[in-house]
Amino acid sequence: MNSFSDNAIAAAKDENLQKALYNATERFRQARADTLGSIDFESYRRSASAVKSDVIAHLSYYLDKFKENAEKSGAKVHYAQDAEEARRIALKIIRENNGSLVVKGKSMITEEIGLNEALEKEGVEVTETDLGEFIIQLAGEKPSHIIAPAIHKTKEEVGKLFADKLKTGYTSDPAKLTKIARETLREKFLKADIGITGANFAVADTGTIVIVTNEGNGRMVTTVPKVHIAFASVEKIIPSIKDLSLFLRLLPRAATGQKISSYVSFLTGISKEEKESGRSRHIIFIDNGRDAVISGRFREILHCIRCGACINVCPVYGFAGGYSYRATYPGPIGIVLTSLLEGLPNRAELPFAACTLCYACQEACSVGIKLADMIRELRNEAVNRKLTDKKLSVMMKIYGTLFSSPKLYRLSKVPAGLMIKKGYKKDE
Ligand code: SF4
Repeated sequence: MNSFSDNAIAAAKDENLQKALYNATERFRQARADTLGSIDFESYRRSASAVKSDVIAHLSYYLDKFKENAEKSGAKVHYAQDAEEARRIALKIIRENNGSLVVKGKSMITEEIGLNEALEKEGVEVTETDLGEFIIQLAGEKPSHIIAPAIHKTKEEVGKLFADKLKTGYTSDPAKLTKIARETLREKFLKADIGITGANFAVADTGTIVIVTNEGNGRMVTTVPKVHIAFASVEKIIPSIKDLSLFLRLLPRAATGQKISSYVSFLTGISKEEKESGRSRHIIFIDNGRDAVISGRFREILHCIRCGACINVCPVYGFAGGYSYRATYPGPIGIVLTSLLEGLPNRAELPFAACTLCYACQEACSVGIKLADMIRELRNEAVNRKLTDKKLSVMMKIYGTLFSSPKLYRLSKVPAGLMIKKGYKKDE
């Protein structure tokens, strides 16, 4: 398995990837800058952070409240401690309903728990219906960005992929490509027994799941198949509908620069008539390591609303792309979340190699998470626990000794100068 640095070097040499990344992140950054001015961003993100702090501090209270209200309205709420349990619950629901074809909306938590692979292993067909997810599923890849899964692909690459896999003839016209995807997916929507989505927010005081999308697929997935399963990591809870208006203003502006997303769906339970006709709605909350994060000093990372703004402004992501991280969540949010969920000893390279500490992410974060401070803290922790690369540690020690003494620093300039001169001569 390659290191982040190796992957990033390879990514920086890939011209198509660089073109795709630049175009998409630049478009997102510009659109965000154009719309953020329409709200008092600082005050919004302070309020959002306060709401999230309250949720994380009283998580079990809000989860219970959500369950009570959602079940009162006819939904069934499940709780999974880890990925394995979440997959097991989903499979049980699918089996109980004789499901064999699942249509899915975009959901990062289902990526985190490896849902598709688990279902396919059990003979269940899974079709991604978000355009970006559909593209990467066809390509046999994983999302490389949390809001734009196929950000690494140019329209020409998508055209070739469709021509190859769907036998549709080559086009790189985005409107035509979208039409091809829509026509391919229509049949799946009509045949599917189960619809699976994520949830942008889970509102405790009403038991409502809120899904924010720019494609109509979310509504098809949640209404056409007779069973809908929504997956949500526990931190997706917010206390009330009143709080929701704050997040619905922040999220689209920060993510895509829209004042409001094209589709905002509110799903509360299920009606009596729907229930009688065999329809059901399930919500699976997943912890998967969050309880340990909550009890530690990085708990603020769970305030994240997955807007992707930190990723779009990150200069390292802009060159390295999402796959370099070898993680579900890339970019600054990914560095912190992956280090915490997978364990720092397993991912100690990320806080060093994947970050320049430029602080752009911290400035951009929609809910005021101190991302760069956290990354610096993770570096400290990695050094204290001796998790860093040995060569790097020795070099930093030498560097520290030389730069903390003016005398040694002056002396070191002579050999350093000679080395640089020699290096130049070699290049000539
Ligand atoms: S850490 Fe902040 S900027 Fe990054 S995705 Fe989460 S909310 Fe958005």
